[in-house]
Amino acid sequence: MIPTAFDYQVPATLEEAISLLAADPDGAKVLAGGHSLIPAMKLRLAQPQLLVDIARIKSLAYIREEGNQILIGATTTHYQLESSELLKQICPLLPQCAASIGDVQVRNKGTIGGSIAHSDPAGDWPAAVLALDAELVLVGPNGERTVKATDFFVGLMTTDLQPGEILREIRIAKPSGRFGHSYQKAPHPASGFAVVGIAVQLDLNDDGSCKAARVGVTGVSTKAYRAQGVETALAGASLDEQTIASAAAHACDGIDPSKDLYASGEYRCALAQVYTRRAIQAAKNGGG
Ligand SMILES: Cc1cc2nc3c(=O)[nH]c(=O)nc-3n(C[C@H](O)[C@H](O)[C@H](O)COP(=O)(O)OP(=O)(O)OC[C@H]3O[C@@H](n4cnc5c(N)ncnc54)[C@H](O)[C@@H]3O)c2cc1C
Repeated sequence: MIPTAFDYQVPATLEEAISLLAADPDGAKVLAGGHSLIPAMKLRLAQPQLLVDIARIKSLAYIREEGNQILIGATTTHYQLESSELLKQICPLLPQCAASIGDVQVRNKGTIGGSIAHSDPAGDWPAAVLALDAELVLVGPNGERTVKATDFFVGLMTTDLQPGEILREIRIAKPSGRFGHSYQKAPHPASGFAVVGIAVQLDLNDDGSCKAARVGVTGVSTKAYRAQGVETALAGASLDEQTIASAAAHACDGIDPSKDLYASGEYRCALAQVYTRRAIQAAKNGGG
């Protein structure tokens, strides 16, 4: 289908983008990679009057270390994250997650900020930023604020972003000490999106037991979530097969799983438990 008519602006700076959005906070929309928004416009699920293209604001695409944090600009593409040598060394969960997204074209255009802002229930980044306990920096006409990823995802394709606000940066505490990571995804055979995607970040003691665990889950429900039952069962535990299996059984605690033509709620939860077990196992062994 063809989208409804819209205007298009390419601001040179973030400040210019904010004032363009502020002029029409309900009718204007941010355009980043366009790999979710343009399809939605073609289906007329979204009918913005103005697109504010932030993908060309060079200062919004970066990956850098600052103190004990990793800072990622919102328009950094999936490919830039996948191929970052820095991230492979200091936070390998991010490149692993990026590599699982779509195909080469999608990874070259799609952005981490766009994916998080879009909050597709089957998107991969929400699981990873939850497992890394990220903070999201939002900027709008009233200034800047920081929101924890755990508070950002509100419901089906709904986030804490307010009209006129832009997600500017993703901040992640640099993993330190001995740690393990893994992103395990059961992709839908047609779309490649996650039927289930499990991101695990483990802090490990010297003897290999689990100091603390964070588990982000996507695909299972209307929004990504932290599997707190799994995290509690792993904290302080030795990571033997039995402990991992019983912890993974909590992957859907308190969750009403989504159902569609491909997967019933029961199947989704069973899959989530299996992939959680696999992800913990892989993280325990160092990652991947
Ligand atoms: C064929 C195909 C396969 C795909 N497969 C996968 C997959 O396997 N896994 C996966 O996770 N995703 C997948 N995607 C989606 C892809 O990752 C998108 O790139 C991503 O969801 C959205 O990022 P974007 O930069 O393209 O955002 P856009 O499409 O430009 O924007 C999406 C939404 O976010 C808003 N937005 C964008 N950036 C910001 C910002 N910085 N601040 C505030 N709001 C913002 C826009 O206004 C819009 O509402 C696929 C897409 C396609 C077309």
